[in-house]
Amino acid sequence: MAMIDGLPPLREVIATHDLSAKKALGQNFLLDLNLTAKIARQAGDLSGTDVLEVGPGPGGLTRGLLAEGARKVLAVEKDPRCLPALAEIADAYPGRLEVVEGDALAINALDRLTPPIAICANLPYNVGTELLVRWLTPPAWPPVWNTLTLMFQKEVAERIVAKPGSKAYGRLAILAQWRCDVHVAMHLPPEAFTPPPKVSSAVVHLRALAEPRFEADPKILERVVAAGFNQRRKMLRASLKGVSPNIEEHLNAVGIAPTERAEQVSVEQFCALARQLGG
Ligand code: SAM
Repeated sequence: MAMIDGLPPLREVIATHDLSAKKALGQNFLLDLNLTAKIARQAGDLSGTDVLEVGPGPGGLTRGLLAEGARKVLAVEKDPRCLPALAEIADAYPGRLEVVEGDALAINALDRLTPPIAICANLPYNVGTELLVRWLTPPAWPPVWNTLTLMFQKEVAERIVAKPGSKAYGRLAILAQWRCDVHVAMHLPPEAFTPPPKVSSAVVHLRALAEPRFEADPKILERVVAAGFNQRRKMLRASLKGVSPNIEEHLNAVGIAPTERAEQVSVEQFCALARQLGG
């Protein structure tokens, strides 16, 4: 394994600190530092950027982010067993790594960073989607972060980048694509992880747009999209009946056939409908 820093190989770190993987914490570790450096590079130029990492574990991606030049990494880790290993990394990169022990769902870590901010993580699968939705729905847009570079199960990655007309297209695609440029940056087989998970994974890159792609009130848009996809097999005139009593008129006014189903409606059309309903 090529050396990206003077620290011991990750297998050694795991053995020294007895970091046997815990399933309940979604622990599937990346031990190849070339791979973690490659993931870090998908976040773009990190020099002059603060990075939030959720779930550093033994620190493979953390080391990648630091070696790739992040100004500072703030790493939030729930498993206290990982802290001694992370402290060694902090010693090797003085002043550039801060580790916070705790649950990323309970800590507002972004408040502790200085823009520009990137978020980069090999997320625990059980909290990944919830964190993504939180990052995509800040109180105001643009958010404090510029980019998200995140590992997901392949199926979740497909839902984030899905286009209308596909099975994977739904609320997550609309939420992400309304205000971000999104793409799948890397595919990873189960064997890339220790222990290997049952599913394949993918790294998704999201870049926040300065302004939403199309104008819409976020609350109305979310309501329409949720109603449409909660009954995705129904025609919109039925699935959106609860949103407005004269939904057919509104759909016709923005050029959406009331007989369409939600999965055929583009982000632009959903935004037009949200404006029509709010106007
Ligand atoms: N980043 C490491 C890597 O790539 O090898 C570990 C990734 S592992 C998939 C997920 C990590 O998230 C584990 O270290 C786990 O302990 C941690 N974790 C799980 N739930 C968490 C939570 N709610 N908040 C913070 N960290 C969490």
